[in-house]
Amino acid sequence: MAKTAIITGGSRGLGAAMAKKLGEMGFNVVLAYHSASSEKLTEEVAAEIEKFGVETLIVRADVSKFEDCEKLVKATIDRFGDRISVLVNNAGITNNCNWIDITPDQYERVIATNLMSFMHMTHLVLPYMISHSSKDDQCNIVNISSVGGLTGVINQADYCASKAGVIGMSRALALEYAGKGIRVNCIAPGMIMTDMLRGVNQDELNALAATIPEGYIGGVHDIADAMEYLLKANYVTGQVLSPNGGFVMQ
Ligand code: NAD
Repeated sequence: MAKTAIITGGSRGLGAAMAKKLGEMGFNVVLAYHSASSEKLTEEVAAEIEKFGVETLIVRADVSKFEDCEKLVKATIDRFGDRISVLVNNAGITNNCNWIDITPDQYERVIATNLMSFMHMTHLVLPYMISHSSKDDQCNIVNISSVGGLTGVINQADYCASKAGVIGMSRALALEYAGKGIRVNCIAPGMIMTDMLRGVNQDELNALAATIPEGYIGGVHDIADAMEYLLKANYVTGQVLSPNGGFVMQ
């Protein structure tokens, strides 16, 4: 029987690439999407995943809100049962604003979307994971941080704080559930070409790209491959894997 994986922000970008990889790996995939305008895109991602012979469920949820996360987990269990094996916390936003002009609404939204969503989702999913996880049947939580969580980025203070928070919380949870068949790891992507980067000032982006030692901006497959590695790497927990072309060296 196929195992179940939930991924937040599965409509496009890194989320869509990782969702397809989950399908390729044989998981039934629950795709959470945010806005009504993303529904069609998410359906297209789901159709591609089903070509791997697995099932999908798409659920509209604003994962910055606890009640929407509850709805997402309940819909998952109603459809696939409570043996949830993988949670990928991917949904994220950025403001790109200096710390004088930014408003509290803007930075609270970044923290709620990038960090609180991870807190809500792990709080809701862990009890189901712990009820069936074992050394031979591990469950995995993969959290999408950023190089912004490892170093400072100008005009991204709220984003960097949220992504550093994701790393701190992942390490703490990895320790809390080590030895219980649950591994918790982070991916901290460098610059990867998605809508998130297309929205950034292109002159700034080109200048940044020129500073990447490998010489180019990464692709979504680089992150999907990192996720696949973490899901298969039975002895790896509490780690941060950073596909970033040498941009940040830990
Ligand atoms: P993207 O903007 O293409 O995708 C973000 C996804 O999150 C979308 O599917 C969006 O609908 C979803 N989302 C946003 N707010 C949500 C909410 N409240 N509830 C549910 N879903 C919500 O960006 P991306 O580049 O694919 O980013 C994916 C993740 O990777 C983010 O966490 C981002 O911070 C991180 N990241 C991206 C890069 C990069 O260079 N692209 C680098 C480092 C980290």
